[in-house]
Amino acid sequence: MKTSDGKIFCSEKCYQASLPLCSVCQKMLSGSFFRSKDGKNLYCSEKCLSTTWPSCSLCKKKVKEGTMLIGAGGKNFFCGKCAELPRCFCCDMPAKCAKLKDGRFICPECAKTAVMEEQDIIAIIKEVRLKMNEKLSMSTDHQIEYKVVDFVELSKLVPEKQEGIELGLFRFEETNEKTISTKSTIAGDTITKVEDEKISRKYAIYVLYGMTKDKLIEVAAHELAHDWMKASYPRIADLKVKEGFAEYAASKVNALYGRESMNGRMQDNPSDIYGGGYRFIAGIAKKGEDNLKAFLEKYNKDSPGN
Ligand SMILES: [Zn+2]
Ligand SMILES: [Zn+2]
Ligand SMILES: [Zn+2]
Ligand SMILES: [Zn+2]
Repeated sequence: MKTSDGKIFCSEKCYQASLPLCSVCQKMLSGSFFRSKDGKNLYCSEKCLSTTWPSCSLCKKKVKEGTMLIGAGGKNFFCGKCAELPRCFCCDMPAKCAKLKDGRFICPECAKTAVMEEQDIIAIIKEVRLKMNEKLSMSTDHQIEYKVVDFVELSKLVPEKQEGIELGLFRFEETNEKTISTKSTIAGDTITKVEDEKISRKYAIYVLYGMTKDKLIEVAAHELAHDWMKASYPRIADLKVKEGFAEYAASKVNALYGRESMNGRMQDNPSDIYGGGYRFIAGIAKKGEDNLKAFLEKYNKDSPGN
C-alpha cells in the first residue's frame, strides 16, 4: 500500500500501526484531527481536545477562552459568561452575588463570614492594632476614632487625588485655632493681648461593614499602617510610597494570621499606586527590614511634607 504522502506499507495492519494516536482516548487518527498549541499533542475530536481546556473557577465548565481575574485569593480563571457577573466588593471575584443595602454586591462565600455589627468590627480593629504593636513594633499613642460606614458615606470621604476606593480610610485632621483675648487690670491702665494657639489633631479610621473577618483584618492593618506612618514618617507625601507601605504592612499582618495566600492580590495588583507601591516597598524590605527603615527615614527627610 502507498499513502498519499508516498509512504509504503506491506499491509493494512502495518499502516494502521503507523498512525498517530489521540492523546486522550488513544484512538488512531486518520483524516482530520486537532493539534495542541505547542503541536506536541494530537486529539481525535474537539471533545477530547476540550479536556485540556482550563475550567472556569465558578461554574467549573471547561472553556477554550476566558478571563483571568485578580481577587482576594490571587488569580482565578472565569468563562466569558461568569466573568460578566457582578463582582463581590470584598474578594473582587464575579459570583452569584447578593446585594447589600448600600448597593454593594457580596458573593455567597464572603457572605458566610461577613462582619456586620459595629462593635464586632471595632473589636477586630483593636485586636489588629494590639498585634501590630506586639509583633511588628508598630504603635502610636494616637487616640484613633473608629467609624463603621457604608459605601456611600465612605465614597464621600475619599480624597479626590486618591486612585480607586479602598475598603477603609485613614483620616488625619489638624486644626489650628488661634484665639486672641485682651486682659486689663482692675485699674484699667494696662491692657495685655493674649494670643493662644491651640493645635488639635484628630485621627480616624473608617471601615465598611460587611467584610469577611480576614479582609477586615487586612484592611484594618492597612489603615493602621497609615496612622503609624503619620507618626513615624510624617513628611512622606508620595502616594505610591504611602500606599505601598500600608499594603506591605497589611501583608505582614496577613502572614501573622497565617494567611499569606491573601498577599497574592497585592503582588498581582495592576494598579501603579497600590500594586506598584507594594512591589516597590517589598523589594526594598527583601534586603532586610533595616534596609526598609533606612529608606523610609531618608525618604522622610528628603520629602517636602504634605
Ligand atoms: Zn480522542
Ligand atoms: Zn463559568
Ligand atoms: Zn466575595
Ligand atoms: Zn491606603
